[in-house]
Amino acid sequence: MEDQLGRIRVVLVGTSHPGNIGSVARAMKAMGLSDLVLVDPQRFPAAEATALAAGADDLLARARVLTRLEDAVADCVWVVGTSARRRGHSVPVFDPEPAARELIARASGGSVALVFGRESSGLTNAELDRCTALVQIPTDPGFSSLNLAAAVQVLAYACRTAALVGDSGSAPGGGVERHATQAEMEALFEHYQRVLVQIEFLDPEKPRHLMRRLRHLYQRAGLTANEVRILRGILTHTERGGGRPRTGS
Ligand code: SAH
Repeated sequence: MEDQLGRIRVVLVGTSHPGNIGSVARAMKAMGLSDLVLVDPQRFPAAEATALAAGADDLLARARVLTRLEDAVADCVWVVGTSARRRGHSVPVFDPEPAARELIARASGGSVALVFGRESSGLTNAELDRCTALVQIPTDPGFSSLNLAAAVQVLAYACRTAALVGDSGSAPGGGVERHATQAEMEALFEHYQRVLVQIEFLDPEKPRHLMRRLRHLYQRAGLTANEVRILRGILTHTERGGGRPRTGS
């Protein structure tokens, strides 16, 4: 169980109150999570963070501070964004328990991430596009926004519970193919865009929403690393002008 919980990364994007970062560390440590990444925090390190961590300051000391969300999740095989509101998303929106079960299952194959937004405005659409799925904690419809650390607590608890059940119940399937990492998916999208422009399917002057739609489609499909390799092979072949795959020279 520790293995899987250890592979669940909590990513906080643009946090403005350092006290919340401390409370998040505390919430994580109590549930056995330890991998905290801060993307562009407004103030960190800070005395309020240490005070509210209440003994979980080892997590703060080990927390990595980065400037871009892409770098925080590049090695992850599943990236789940969190949102207080439903806003016409094209990626699947999970309740906490099924999301936690999926996180635990996928954590057997690599790191997975839970991404949390800013206190004031949550995650931007571009940031949500980096996520393979979303989770929304069901709340009173008239008051849907939880405090950041409270949201982390609910999801960390759900993960711990899912890991406990997984330990005593069904074992995760052996020999399952590895899912593509976020970096592999990004490389696929860049390759796609290049080829679509080359074959004049995509007009860079008028891209519309084509790349976003393709991004959502492939994220929904939950591609394995091998499937990404096949798609990139097709793209490379298209880039070279098609024809029969080369034999010999
Ligand atoms: N006004 C913001 C709320 C930000 S709350 C908005 O409407 O998006 C800060 C962060 O806490 C959110 O970005 C999200 O990561 C998390 N959060 C708060 N309430 C949540 C909920 N009901 N479900 C999932 N995450 C939630």
